[in-house]
Amino acid sequence: MPQSAYVKEIFKSIQGEAEYVGYEQIFVRFIGCNIKCNYCDTDIEKCEELKLYKNWDSKEYKVLKNPLESLELIEAIEELDPEKNVHSISLTGGEPLINIKFLEEFLPEFKKIRNTKIFLETNGTLQKELHCIAEYVDIVSMDLKLASYLENRENLIQKHSIFLKECMENNIATYVKIVLDNNFSLEEFNNYLKVVEPYKHKVNVYIQPMMDGDKMLISSEKLKLAFDQCKNRGLNPRIIPQVHRMLCLN
Ligand code: SF4
Repeated sequence: MPQSAYVKEIFKSIQGEAEYVGYEQIFVRFIGCNIKCNYCDTDIEKCEELKLYKNWDSKEYKVLKNPLESLELIEAIEELDPEKNVHSISLTGGEPLINIKFLEEFLPEFKKIRNTKIFLETNGTLQKELHCIAEYVDIVSMDLKLASYLENRENLIQKHSIFLKECMENNIATYVKIVLDNNFSLEEFNNYLKVVEPYKHKVNVYIQPMMDGDKMLISSEKLKLAFDQCKNRGLNPRIIPQVHRMLCLN
């Protein structure tokens, strides 16, 4: 029986965060997540219909039915990018890796017909799932989720560490992103940086200010503290806000 997954929307747009900011991608936004961040702004409710936006500068969309099968997803991607010239396909969410059975079916089929890069946006906690599909993943955008931003306050350092190790063992181009607001603790932030330290020459760290609409929820002083902390540990930090918000894109 074909595998399927619940997807909220599929659209072509510009990557608005971190290392690949400005590149054109097709985004596949999966529904559902295995953790709960208190700043999460993504819809986690399963819905029967998903929207396929035809152009990144238009609100026009076509409706598809959930759950989506892998061949339907391939068709949708082909429809949005028949010339096969977007930079990559962003699997985002929610947490894409909770749909591992679907991805195990979709990715080999997809790679048979296109060599477009697969860009995985993940909370960096599901190493076993990543292991199953690592050969098909070209780029990982991995979040570090500080316990103080999680509803259950779980410390994810161990999970993040084994996830990043899995990325490195599979030679996946990986960067780490950390979302911060004014309330972050420098001590906690510093602890989470230990996850990246063993790979400091290969993995860049992106500090992303938390936003409320177009308002930044962190002061420049606090950003500087975080930035300096990364540099003190020999890491390669950058500060980049969410650019797609400024461009009023999806
Ligand atoms: S990991 Fe992402 S999708 Fe999941 S709760 Fe956090 S912000 Fe939301």
